[in-house]
Amino acid sequence: MERTLSIIKPDGVARGLAGEVIKRLEQNNLKITAMKMLRMTKSQAKGFYDVHRERPFFESLTDFMVSGPIIVMILEGENAIGRYRELMGATDYREAAQGTIRKDFATDIEKNVVHGSDGPETAAFEIGYFFNSFEITG
Ligand code: ATP
Ligand code: MG
Repeated sequence: MERTLSIIKPDGVARGLAGEVIKRLEQNNLKITAMKMLRMTKSQAKGFYDVHRERPFFESLTDFMVSGPIIVMILEGENAIGRYRELMGATDYREAAQGTIRKDFATDIEKNVVHGSDGPETAAFEIGYFFNSFEITG
């Protein structure tokens, strides 16, 4: 069993895509063991994406991530990290495989609807960033 952190980004929430994303998680046997809606502050967004601090898109990305509420979830399952990244599709929706969330719904390389942890260490950091032990079921 593996855990990963999923975010429905501000564009996904604003466009009413939360139900569609959650449906795909459920259909693909990624069990949601924690979930909440929140709006990050700029400094929380910068901390979350700290690995990208030196990238040219960092300022724009963190502005986007605080532009509205997000839905954060913990997903659990066998190979959850890899399976969820497959469901999301490539960062750039133009390169994403058919049937992936980003291929179907992203409008921009930045506004790509969802986030998923990219490895076990990242997942542990990201889960701890948003959830304490009392908020995690199962
Ligand atoms: P995420 O971490 O959000 O799941 P990812 O792992 O597919 O996405 P990263 O390389 O970690 O992609 O980039 C983090 C986010 O930064 C992307 O999801 C996207 O919103 C934004 N981003 C990445 N590359 C670019 C770019 N070249 N221009 C603008 N925004 C970008
Ligand atoms: Mg990433």
